[in-house]
Amino acid sequence: MTIKRRPSRLLHVGDVPVGGDSPITVQSMTTTKTADVDATLAQVYSLAGGGADIVRITCNDVAAAQGLAEIVPRSPVPIIADIHFQYRLALAAIEAGVAGLRLNPGNIRKEEHIKAVARAAGEAGIPIRVGVNAGSLDKDLLEKYGAPVPPALVDSALKEIAYLEDVGFYDIKISVKHSDVPSMVESYRLLADRVEYPLHLGVTEAGPPPGGLIKSVAGISTLLFEGIGDTIRFSLTADPVEEAKAGRKLLEILGLRERKGLDLIACPSCGRAEVDVIEVVKEAEAALEAEGLPIQVAVMGCVVNGPGEAREADIGIAAGRKKGHLFIKGQVVRVVQEHEMVEALVDEARKLAEQGVEARLAAADVTAADLAEEEAIELRGLQGDANLAATRRAAVAEVAGE
Ligand code: SF4
Repeated sequence: MTIKRRPSRLLHVGDVPVGGDSPITVQSMTTTKTADVDATLAQVYSLAGGGADIVRITCNDVAAAQGLAEIVPRSPVPIIADIHFQYRLALAAIEAGVAGLRLNPGNIRKEEHIKAVARAAGEAGIPIRVGVNAGSLDKDLLEKYGAPVPPALVDSALKEIAYLEDVGFYDIKISVKHSDVPSMVESYRLLADRVEYPLHLGVTEAGPPPGGLIKSVAGISTLLFEGIGDTIRFSLTADPVEEAKAGRKLLEILGLRERKGLDLIACPSCGRAEVDVIEVVKEAEAALEAEGLPIQVAVMGCVVNGPGEAREADIGIAAGRKKGHLFIKGQVVRVVQEHEMVEALVDEARKLAEQGVEARLAAADVTAADLAEEEAIELRGLQGDANLAATRRAAVAEVAGE
């Protein structure tokens, strides 16, 4: 399925393009004190390693702005300064060399202050995100609408944009975040019809996983499927590396970014499972993530259905009776002892990444597929054929008049 992106203006956050036809990007935010340069930089590196293309850092006082001056030149990804209340800190962040600003219209309200920041950002050639947040909506708009409803969020963004455009500033991206998923989706839909600027998606204050993850995935995915959204952030109450990873993973799953790391698929397990699938998956995930291979790996609880059900995976392992059946693209290539399953899987994954599918299929143990089939037949005999394949085939033949 191809997602048709909403046309939007292209801008650059440092060397990262946002909007237009550029790939959808992942953002995250540090949780350290910005003045603590080493701790913040260490977190920026972790976030970049987790999948963040752009990192936002709070600039909440002069020490933070000074910290930014040291962080920016040493950062592996472009840095955006997050500004609330004090417009002078936006000017200081620009002086520190940041690649972008995020302004909250609810917190910086004076027109002349907003315009002063826009002029300085224009001179520095950096974009501004107009970051509307339902929890800190402009008081006048809150009074007018009675609640932070979607049209109120959109009005807040449009009002701020008008100030920026007034001084000839158009390097703008916008977010209208809400903690309520339906309201968030509706806000972005309304906004998408009104502007051509790129949109930064997020469910604000989504909370800890798993609820926070589910809210973020629900809101962000809905919009991405509609072609809305140019950059995303999961706002989780968790280690920010988790939100960077989750954002990246979501884009990979939706086919919007190339797979950079492991995609582990696994069966949910059932009464047929010959191993503790949850434990094997945990062990395999830890070992495979350490390898950093961009492949899809399947862990299946039984050889009866495993290799067939996971035939699309690059590589996988299915449990037999005290054995592991290693398969590549659904073809069993090796049988190993149960206690060697994870080790054999990682070893084969490494070889597959180095040598490719054809070479590894050519190196297959020719007896492995027959052994797997024998074992599957034996297990079906012991456990019964859950798919009732033989009975169904006979019934189909009878109906067809054979
Ligand atoms: S692969 Fe086997 S163990 Fe896993 S869910 Fe399917 S039938 Fe059950």
